[in-house]
Parts: sequence; C-alpha cells; structure tokens
Amino acid sequence: MPLTVHQFPCLSDNYGFLIRDEASGKTACIDTPDAAAILRELETLGWGLDMILNTHWHPDHAGGNADIQAKTGCAIVGPGEVTRIAPLDREVKGGDTVDLGETSFQVIDSGGHTLGHIAYFDGTDRIAFVGDTLFALGCGRLFEGTPEQMWDSLQRLAALPDDTTVYCAHEYTASNARFALSVDDSPALKDRAAQIFAARERDEWTVPTTIGLEKATNPFLRAPLLAGKVGAAGQPDATAFGAVRAAKDGFKG
Ligand code: ZN
Ligand code: FE
Repeated sequence: MPLTVHQFPCLSDNYGFLIRDEASGKTACIDTPDAAAILRELETLGWGLDMILNTHWHPDHAGGNADIQAKTGCAIVGPGEVTRIAPLDREVKGGDTVDLGETSFQVIDSGGHTLGHIAYFDGTDRIAFVGDTLFALGCGRLFEGTPEQMWDSLQRLAALPDDTTVYCAHEYTASNARFALSVDDSPALKDRAAQIFAARERDEWTVPTTIGLEKATNPFLRAPLLAGKVGAAGQPDATAFGAVRAAKDGFKG
C-alpha cells in the first residue's frame, strides 16, 4: 500500500511534509520547520505522529523537534548533527534503513549544505525527501561542506530512478530559474522556466519535482555541460559544480 504525502507551506518559504504509511497507519513528519503549523495540520488530518525524520540540524528543519515530541510523544530520527539543537532517539547515516510501518526509507548521505545532511528515499513508492540538498532548479548553499562533497551527494540523488518524486524543503524555484537562465540557454530549461514563472504568478507550488526533470534542466546537475559559462572549462566535474554554485551565490537577479 502506498505512502500518502501531505504537503503544506510554512514559515516564509519552507514546506512541511506529513506522511502516512497506509498499510499500518503509521505517520511521520519530515523536518520540523514550524511546530505550531505542524501540530495544526496533524489535528486537521486527524493523525497522530509516530516519528520525526530530520534531514539536517538547521533551525528551520529541526527547531520544532522538542515541542512536537512533547505534544505527540513521537520518536526523533536524524543525523548526529541534529543533537546540537535537540536530542535524537535514533541517529542514522547514509546506508541505514528507517521503517515506517511497511514503508522502508533508505538513508542517503547528502552532506554539503551541512556536513551531516541526509535524504530519505522510499524505493517502493519512488519518493525522496531531500531537505536542502536538491531544489527545483537549484541546490543548497555550501554552508559547511566542499563542492566535492556536495557534488558527490547530488550524484547519489541523480542516480535515483528518473520518475522519483522529489520533495524539496523550500519554494525557491522562481529565483533559481532566473539564475539558471543566466548560465544555460537549453530549450528544455526555457520551457520549464516559463512554466515556473506562470505557476508562481498563480501562486501555485513548484514542489515536488522529479529526478528526471532535474537531470534535464537543473544547472547544478548540468554543471559539467555549463563549465565554459562559469569559467571552469576543462575542469573536473566537482570544480565545474563549485563554479556554478559560486556564480549563484553572487547572482543578483
Ligand atoms: Zn538548511
Ligand atoms: Fe532550510
């Protein structure tokens, strides 16, 4: 039986995700950007909460852990770095498995935005929760890791099936699209950017995305093809990626 995903906006540009394994009725929350908003959504849905799955330690991802655990008694699962702001019940790392009823999540090391960042992949339903590693047409800033580490992380996500549904933690897509158009003039990107601008005009969400769509249009995954545009022609793939990332960090548009 499938996994149900309930998505809702919170804070200024985060998404919250509540998920339910339909076979068992077990539920989880992906990160805890806003405890009050998450508790409200749980009440509306009539769901209890069994588990929090954290992707990384940033306050807009783990800041609600303590309040939500106090109210629901749920277990908290995440990478070790989360303990710098709240205790964990179970520490996990790349290669581990987390079960929610009959749904099994593979934990994928996706460090780079933070050193210990992880993603969760349900291979049966082909659903991935990627936190701040991969965004629609973007990727997370390198607050703690190196371009090499982030490039390796992005390659692990790019290796998932093309039809994997990818839930990113922020609605950054329109600004990502403006940057992407500055380094890439592929027809696929132009089409997608036009759709994104139109969707945002209508206040529609651009998350989730898919691995296939990101591989075709995301300038960070396409970095080796765009190396010449960012002064990294002939450089290793991770260096080209680092140059695209640096260009985005300095982009005013
Ligand atoms: Zn973050
Ligand atoms: Fe974030």
